[in-house]
Amino acid sequence: MGSDPVWSYHHFKVIAERAAKRRLFRVKNYVELPKKVKVAAFDVAIIPYEEQRARVGEVFGEFSCVENVIRIDMSISPMQICETLVHEIAHSIYWIYSVDDSDEEERIVSVMSTGWMQVYRDNPKILEFISSTIKENT
Ligand SMILES: [Zn+2]
Repeated sequence: MGSDPVWSYHHFKVIAERAAKRRLFRVKNYVELPKKVKVAAFDVAIIPYEEQRARVGEVFGEFSCVENVIRIDMSISPMQICETLVHEIAHSIYWIYSVDDSDEEERIVSVMSTGWMQVYRDNPKILEFISSTIKENT
């Protein structure tokens, strides 16, 4: 899986540069997608989603609690990649911090805000990726 260009972390940059040439979005200060995010005691790997698999599922990403992996479709725009990353990290916080579907709103919000603070504190590269992607595309 390492030799296939679709699986390369440079894939995003190549696609972003091509789109920038077509003036779809800017990539002046490109920041590479982090390879992992620490959520509570776990390192959750961030890897590219095979495009075909994402299309079949009609999703841009997924969090697998079994594999402890976040997959992201790298063929979408940087802002969509960024939003998908935030969405999948939220799923990982929900799962790893043991939020239950039957929990009440105040408990869910409390656990999610604590989880997000821990993620921001322990993952400066994630914060840098989010802020630079937003700055470059606003
Ligand atoms: Zn979801």
